[in-house]
Amino acid sequence: MDSERTRTGDELALTGKATSFLGQSEDPSCDVFSQLESSVIQPGLCTHCGTCVGLSAGTLEMHDTTWGPIPSPTSGVDINLSPLASTACPGLGVNYPELYDYVFGELPTNWLIGCYRELYVGYSSVPEIRRRGASGGVITQTLIYLLTHGLVDGAVVVRQGYPRPWLAEPFIARSQEEIAAASQSVYVPVPVNALLGQIESFEGRLAYVGLPDQVAALRRLQQSGHPGANKIEYILGPYVGTTMYISSIESYLRSNGIRDIGEVTELRYREGAWPGYLHIRTRSGRVLRAEKFYYNYLIPFHITRSTLLSVDFTNELTDISVGDAWHPRYESQGQGFSIVIARTAKGAQLLHCLNEQGLVHLEGISLDDALAMHGHMLDFKKRGSFIRLGWRSACGRPVPHYGYRPKSIPLARRLVEVVISSIFVLCRQPLVRSLAEHIPLALLGPSFDFLRRIWKNVSKPTKRKGLGNYEVSIRLVDYEQ
Ligand SMILES: Cc1cc2nc3c(=O)[nH]c(=O)nc-3n(C[C@H](O)[C@H](O)[C@H](O)COP(=O)(O)OP(=O)(O)OC[C@H]3O[C@@H](n4cnc5c(N)ncnc54)[C@H](O)[C@@H]3O)c2cc1C
Ligand code: SF4
Repeated sequence: MDSERTRTGDELALTGKATSFLGQSEDPSCDVFSQLESSVIQPGLCTHCGTCVGLSAGTLEMHDTTWGPIPSPTSGVDINLSPLASTACPGLGVNYPELYDYVFGELPTNWLIGCYRELYVGYSSVPEIRRRGASGGVITQTLIYLLTHGLVDGAVVVRQGYPRPWLAEPFIARSQEEIAAASQSVYVPVPVNALLGQIESFEGRLAYVGLPDQVAALRRLQQSGHPGANKIEYILGPYVGTTMYISSIESYLRSNGIRDIGEVTELRYREGAWPGYLHIRTRSGRVLRAEKFYYNYLIPFHITRSTLLSVDFTNELTDISVGDAWHPRYESQGQGFSIVIARTAKGAQLLHCLNEQGLVHLEGISLDDALAMHGHMLDFKKRGSFIRLGWRSACGRPVPHYGYRPKSIPLARRLVEVVISSIFVLCRQPLVRSLAEHIPLALLGPSFDFLRRIWKNVSKPTKRKGLGNYEVSIRLVDYEQ
């Protein structure tokens, strides 16, 4: 396991205080970036969060690669990178126990879902917001409430279609209309924290939506007293199972006979009635559509490396986190249902206000119901990722540290992981990707969905066994020195 390996100079030393893992040097800016390059970027551990770029005063920029957006020096200027980048970079790791303590003042009683106060299934009571949302439109509704009630002056969100129709970018929404236009999920990595410079110069308080790695980096910056991070009053975030590289869209286009992504004029990942479909419009006016559960076939071929190493599925460091309420009771109704977790006191209070004012419909659910909705993905992150981290570490490759690990993982579960990881390795091969593009989509999507359901049923007993008693060891060795 990662936590048992021998420390080297490069390794992360997460300390009780928000300090850099780097030693003192004469030229700290340059050293911080070269350390990130050697310890995070080159070994493929960058989560594409954008934090280092946001802390670089414009001297770094995100650069699109086949392995997702990666930070690189802006040409013609000297790097000016705050040492906080090495403190907050989630590619090096996230000290979850320390951040739980900082955010919640306690450790989770259930380590699958993290610290929480209340659990709900719900949706926005405004039909248009619910319909346009990824699941029940709860995130968008909450942001609009915060803005229109003067609790924040803007919201950091992601808008699809900028700077090109097939890309997405983070921005600060200042109006209800801008927040609403940024609803739905974007399944490729978007470096939200690259906006930290703008956040710092923003006049007023902000709400923020980010993925688990981005939220962790932001919490670390708040803990360090970063002035921009401390302008953020409310942190919301989606559950995050998987992200895919933009090659997923390129591949889907090729399967439809379109070789140039530049043909795309519009792209939405969760259009239409819940659970929604991938919607692409091209220059020629052609419209492509694939149901959510059918275009999931792209995941094993284009899954990001950071997905396979992350251990936070339910966005554990937010004030409120929101996912799809996958349950036959809700799926049979369509329309859009979210699972909603109030984690902090102010998150819970906010949801009460929305509920009392009739803006969001909320229904309390039990912890068991919440866990049962996402048993496979919880297992994928809370046991699968630790197995994958262990293998990687055993091969002598750097791994991110999370400050805890499961106490035990049954052998049968490890064997299931051999199958899962072999599929990922196989599907990542260019030849296999290319062969898949020649299978008619009308066959591939439904076949994938059918096989996925069979695999889920076959592996369910092994994947769920012992998950209910999930216990962790907190590896204090990671936090000392
Ligand atoms: C990459 C990704 C993977 C996900 N995987 C799962 C999963 O496996 N299981 C599950 O139950 N739910 C998953 N979700 C969450 C789900 O898709 C919805 O986002 C969630 O249910 C919230 O729905 P909503 O209708 O309340 O959100 P909306 O009201 O539609 O608002 C969504 C908000 O999220 C922001 N946003 C969208 N994409 C990104 C992004 N890439 N980075 C940062 N901010 C973003 C938008 O700007 C918007 O403010 C995932 C979401 C994402 C982005
Ligand atoms: S801070 Fe984020 S973008 Fe920068 S190297 Fe680390 S993971 Fe990558």
